Amino acid sequence: MTVSAPPIVAIATAPGRGGIGVVRLSFGSLDAAAIAPLIEGVCGQALEPRHAHYLGFRDDDGSVIDRGLALYFPAPHSYTGETVLELQGHGGPVVMQLLLARCLRLGDSIGLRLAEPGEFTRRAFLNDKLDLAQAEAVADLIEASTEAAARSAARSMDGAFSDAVHALVDKVIHLRMLVEATLDFPEEEIDFLEAANARGQLAEIQTQLADVLRQSTQGALLREGLNVVLAGQPNVGKSSLLNALAGAELAIVTPIPGTTRDKVQQTIQIEGIPLNIVDTAGLRDTQDEVERIGIQHTWDAIGKADVVLHLIDAPSYAQHGLSAADDEINDRIAGMIPAGTPILRVVNKIDLAPAAGDMTFGGNRPHVVAANGPNPTEIWVSAKQNKGIDLLRATLLRVAGWQAGGGGVYLARERHLVALRAAQRYLREAEDRANEQAQSLDLFAEELRLAQEQLNSITGEFTSDDLLGVIFTRFCIGK
Ligand code: GDP
Ligand code: ZN
Repeated sequence: MTVSAPPIVAIATAPGRGGIGVVRLSFGSLDAAAIAPLIEGVCGQALEPRHAHYLGFRDDDGSVIDRGLALYFPAPHSYTGETVLELQGHGGPVVMQLLLARCLRLGDSIGLRLAEPGEFTRRAFLNDKLDLAQAEAVADLIEASTEAAARSAARSMDGAFSDAVHALVDKVIHLRMLVEATLDFPEEEIDFLEAANARGQLAEIQTQLADVLRQSTQGALLREGLNVVLAGQPNVGKSSLLNALAGAELAIVTPIPGTTRDKVQQTIQIEGIPLNIVDTAGLRDTQDEVERIGIQHTWDAIGKADVVLHLIDAPSYAQHGLSAADDEINDRIAGMIPAGTPILRVVNKIDLAPAAGDMTFGGNRPHVVAANGPNPTEIWVSAKQNKGIDLLRATLLRVAGWQAGGGGVYLARERHLVALRAAQRYLREAEDRANEQAQSLDLFAEELRLAQEQLNSITGEFTSDDLLGVIFTRFCIGK
């Protein structure tokens, strides 16, 4: 239990109107006697633990603000691990505000205040209800923009990712214990690595870590999505291609969380991976301030591109090769994207260029042909007739590093990937130490310790307050 945590309150449901709205209170370190007047004040009665009471929520003058369910969870059996009161009323903004205000007045004498963003979940973490990776998964589940992202966030929230990390930590600890024990008996040091099969154990840990890292990298892709830049001359079929790529899934397209949808930015999904697509056609000189801001966002997005689709016109390309205008577009984009970003040349309207059509889809011709250029991948498609689109989808995901059918995925964050990679480096160092002529068990043990420290940071053992602040303030209020 947190030492002297104050009681907090917030509207836990999303702003706006809905069937149900919830005001949630977590009472910090207060005991039942201190809380009772507030509960009786708003509910008009005492509450039985973990029972749903249907009752009227009372205002200062005894009038009924709303009717709904009151739920009382004495510590430690609650979301936060503290005593929690949940008032479920009707989901209107005014009625929720009235209920919240009433609670704040009643709780004035016990120090009740509005919760900060993420404060409920932060308390759940501090009270060992969740580890840090699980707490982050709560936010990721709420913010998930595709079904696959939501499902993998739920897996992480349930502890699948934490379990995998803990399994690694356990093995590192086991190996460290062996090493430490040997350090106490220096005369046996020489034989230790052989006798305990330390190298074998280390190799096993490394393999397991590589597996966790692979699944986490996939999860990060699910969470962050892929930034795709769509370039090409007017009328080449960019909008049509976007629709073809989105296919039937267009109906569940959602904007990038936290940003307004620019008319030049759209999010579609392929196999559950969000694709943030920027249409460079929207880039033009303008005096309009709002449009200018939109265009600046577009340039920013291009600077973060994971892959570029350069659309060109099949009839003209098949006859004359790359036009000067397309050459210029290619150079301009290549100059702005991060180094090494793949550019896929998408040759569209093959239905209008029979020769090209035959070349791509007739006989045994390959569907992807190499061309000249720095990252020369060409895909021939017809957005209109939906030809070559599946291949384009698969290629897009492949160049982004997505491995289809990779099994369970952990919805990991960049922070987790950084820690996993650092742990991987320390284990490699340990391996080097073990392979040295003059084996130094001290150094071997130290590398293992550093690797463990990185792994522990994922689940939040020994985490600094600063990091906690960064993580939890990104939550919404009420979480
Ligand atoms: P954008 O300006 O690059 O976004 O191009 P649009 O997607 O608006 O398409 C321009 C025109 O080309 C429209 O009339 C489309 O119907 C047509 N178009 C797009 N893709 C194809 C294709 O694969 N084959 C044919 N025949 N027409 C296409
Ligand atoms: Zn268009």
